[in-house]
Amino acid sequence: MMGKRAPRRGRMIPALIACFYAGGVAGWLLHGTFSNSGGPRPALPATVELQEPHETPAATAGKIAARPEATGDVPGAAFIGRDPIAELRRHRLLLPVEGADVKGMEGGFGERRGGGGRGHEAVDILAPRHTPVHAVEGGRIAKLFFSKAGGTTIYQFDPTERFCYYYAHLDRYADGLREGQTVSAGDVIGYVGTTGNAPPNTPHLHFAVFALTDARRWWEGRPLDPYLVYER
Ligand SMILES: [Zn+2]
Repeated sequence: MMGKRAPRRGRMIPALIACFYAGGVAGWLLHGTFSNSGGPRPALPATVELQEPHETPAATAGKIAARPEATGDVPGAAFIGRDPIAELRRHRLLLPVEGADVKGMEGGFGERRGGGGRGHEAVDILAPRHTPVHAVEGGRIAKLFFSKAGGTTIYQFDPTERFCYYYAHLDRYADGLREGQTVSAGDVIGYVGTTGNAPPNTPHLHFAVFALTDARRWWEGRPLDPYLVYER
């Protein structure tokens, strides 16, 4: 059994949501290094550049061409329902990182990346390296995957296996974690790191939520804004 510890909201971890490539912004450094000592943490600039490529199951697996709009008839709409955000809000998801700042997630989803293509389609939560990452709810581990951009990642289904949660840039998985395993809400599934293209001095969790198609493939889904899911 992996350590179960429900994230609390009490402690605010500075969260950054704005990872985008502006290009040409060089030398961005966090002022100091995060530590787990509980001491004061450095203030973060309002906007930081993580030089992190867009990362989604689609990008990872390269298998989705279509990107349905948020409204109208979309693949999987009947399967998921017309308001997946409202549905997921009823799941009352835990935060993937203890004390993560929900308000700080606002806007991260839509940040534009290099080339002006798709948005970020995820939120980034800054936290000290090795901070535990928790399953936001119960469900099956769909895939443990290493990608150049996302590094060490986890794809986890929700209990209905109609949604998928994506945790990226992990330092490592929790001991014993394996594909197909069912985890409980709050279980530690990994640890914050900088694998993939995260800047080495900016450990953070890249967290995404996807509404799957009726094929229920972990790599094929419509990204949902995590902020809207958590906003209370
Ligand atoms: Zn990110």
